[in-house]
Amino acid sequence: MTHVIVVGGGPVGTVAALDAARSGFDVTIVEAATEVQDDPRASTLHPPTLEMLDDLGLLDEVLRLGLTARYFDFWDKPNRSLVARLDHEVLRDETRFPFVVQTEQHKIARLGLDRLEALPNVDVRLGTRVTGVEQSAGTATVHAEGPGGPVDLAGDWVIGCDGARSTVRKSMDIEFEGYTWDERFVVLTTLFDFAEAMDCSYRAYFADPVEWSNLFKVAGDDLKGRWRVVFPARPGESDEEALSDESVRRRMEAVWPGASAGEVVHGKLYRVHQRVAQKFRVGRVLLSGDAAHVNNPIGGLGLNCGIHDAVELMEALRAHEGGASTDVLDAYETRRRDLNIRYVQEQTVGNKRRLEETDPELRAQRLDELREIAADEESQRRFLRRTSLLESVREPHVTG
Ligand SMILES: Cc1cc2nc3c(=O)[nH]c(=O)nc-3n(C[C@H](O)[C@H](O)[C@H](O)COP(=O)(O)OP(=O)(O)OC[C@H]3O[C@@H](n4cnc5c(N)ncnc54)[C@H](O)[C@@H]3O)c2cc1C
Repeated sequence: MTHVIVVGGGPVGTVAALDAARSGFDVTIVEAATEVQDDPRASTLHPPTLEMLDDLGLLDEVLRLGLTARYFDFWDKPNRSLVARLDHEVLRDETRFPFVVQTEQHKIARLGLDRLEALPNVDVRLGTRVTGVEQSAGTATVHAEGPGGPVDLAGDWVIGCDGARSTVRKSMDIEFEGYTWDERFVVLTTLFDFAEAMDCSYRAYFADPVEWSNLFKVAGDDLKGRWRVVFPARPGESDEEALSDESVRRRMEAVWPGASAGEVVHGKLYRVHQRVAQKFRVGRVLLSGDAAHVNNPIGGLGLNCGIHDAVELMEALRAHEGGASTDVLDAYETRRRDLNIRYVQEQTVGNKRRLEETDPELRAQRLDELREIAADEESQRRFLRRTSLLESVREPHVTG
């Protein structure tokens, strides 16, 4: 029986492991932490990702634990005016899910691990940190530190889903090409209800030459609802400065007067990168998710693209185990790397530029473009097809 070792029990690793188990492979999933980390990161799941989670039998729970968002807003922050409201319903003929779902990524990982624990062909190893990977012609072996001490696990394939600092990627000497932005991003979570105050959608981007912002409503673990607000920190701004009561108050008030009255229940700063691994495959070792690529979160694309990697990788592995040559695995690398560069890297950099544009003429032009897109259904459809990655997953590919 084919044995797949998945390194990393985050959202991408758990999806990869579930798909591998469903494919009839023996699966070992190795996660360094003893429980799922719940810091605020991805929440937006786009239509093609919903299709994949549905195929894996996870969607009902993902919907129950999240919020459905049909609309997506762009605002002009200095004027506090709505520029464009885009409606995912224009995708109704192309996907069975013409909306996004805001479900926090830790819920997906928890759900995935719970399902995996119940499967007879899956070995879930929490509290086990992979320290290196080696391979020979017929086997790939991970070295790890587990609760009982060092352990070696051998399998047919190792899938590195161990995040941006991937040990699997480093063990294979794969370069992580790209750059890190000077400024970090501040993510505040507040109980202030922006939709009630300003009638914005559950996902809203605010362009501002001084300080752009993004707003998202998430359900929270209590399902009572809360908002995440993302801002750029100034280059060099410390955690203490960015999370001080005064700067939190100032940033919230700049989005909407009175917003600082809401209780801020969490605050965190993230370093932000645009990087793509030079290779996604070395022999029996393959990469998916943040181990393979990272990007700024404007557009909500990193996790979505990572889940698409995992699902397409399993398609390729099934084809290979069914008799296709290793060309299908090389095609995984070529296609997923190219799609990440053309859709995810390009759009997230473009999104950041659009929100932070300081040149008044260019800024006006970019906002006018959004107004024109929103005014025409076909333009909206083309725009959302691209921003939701639907266009990327529908690009033809060969699985051998
Ligand atoms: C503020 C913010 C907002 C974001 N919003 C969105 C969004 O709305 N939509 C979107 O698509 N993306 C978003 N992203 C990106 C998204 O969070 C990542 O793309 C996503 O976490 C990738 O999942 P992953 O499973 O590949 O990696 P991770 O979530 O990083 O998981 C990696 C796992 O591997 C484990 N691990 C690490 N090293 C080892 C080791 N040596 N041995 C064993 N286990 C190990 C870790 O403990 C972890 O559980 C956002 C990111 C940030 C920072």
